Amino acid sequence: MRNIKTTTIIKEAKRLLIEASFNLPCDIIEAVKSAAKKEISERAKKILELTLENAKIARKQKLPLCQDCGLVYIDLDIGPDICIEDSSNLNNLLNQAVADIYISNYLRKSIVSDPLYERKNTSGNTPAIISTSFTSSPGLHIKIYLKGGGSENCSYLYMLNPSTGEDEIINLVLDVVKKNVTKCCPPVIVGIGVGGTSSEVVKLARTASFRNLEIRNPDKRYRQLEKKILGAINETGIGPQGLGGKTTALVCNIEYAPCHMASFPLAVFMGCHSTRRADSKISPP
Ligand code: SF4
Repeated sequence: MRNIKTTTIIKEAKRLLIEASFNLPCDIIEAVKSAAKKEISERAKKILELTLENAKIARKQKLPLCQDCGLVYIDLDIGPDICIEDSSNLNNLLNQAVADIYISNYLRKSIVSDPLYERKNTSGNTPAIISTSFTSSPGLHIKIYLKGGGSENCSYLYMLNPSTGEDEIINLVLDVVKKNVTKCCPPVIVGIGVGGTSSEVVKLARTASFRNLEIRNPDKRYRQLEKKILGAINETGIGPQGLGGKTTALVCNIEYAPCHMASFPLAVFMGCHSTRRADSKISPP
């Protein structure tokens, strides 16, 4: 068993928060570059080029990629060889780390205390959504995701008839896109979860939305469905920032899980072009 100090995790989480805030992931940059090359519309091409320029300036000048600096997700995947020292206080310390980074880097604080009565800013962009899971892979994998409110508001959960087929899924996702996509700064990254339960399917969709754009679903049937949905979305012609073009979505990723025979949960978790993520693995000697 290898011991990891809480202070080591906090230090790495802070580094990843900064990396995610200022650096658009390479796979997204490559997808935007490739989309810009394919666009025929001058306006669409220009918007995609400006997206790349924005990412370049953010990286060089250490500025936030977007004015909405996002709600913070922190996932910790704990390997079988890892023992975290002082883990009872880990969540508090992670939240403190989020507040430190958001305050010291002048990142916008977007979290309000309760959703209904006060809606008072918590001042440190906390609480973060912190999840821990035990995995078979050795080491400690820390993953940070920052999610803006615009794309969050375009996410949906459906409990469908078990007989639901591909065409219904495609139409449903198209409906979500047509109604909402202009509110979440397209081109978007469409994460879809199918199966599991009403609570699990949203997590599946979140995993799909934050998946590296170059990783396709290992199951051929789902891989083909990802391609069909992406094609259907881009045929709408909504385009970058909703101003017309071929690139309404950069990718469609699907994650699935077994479900109850009487159910068919489906979730759409929309990510904008500024989908920010950073991760690293701590493997103590
Ligand atoms: S949808 Fe994305 S790019 Fe648009 S304002 Fe929100 S975080 Fe920024």
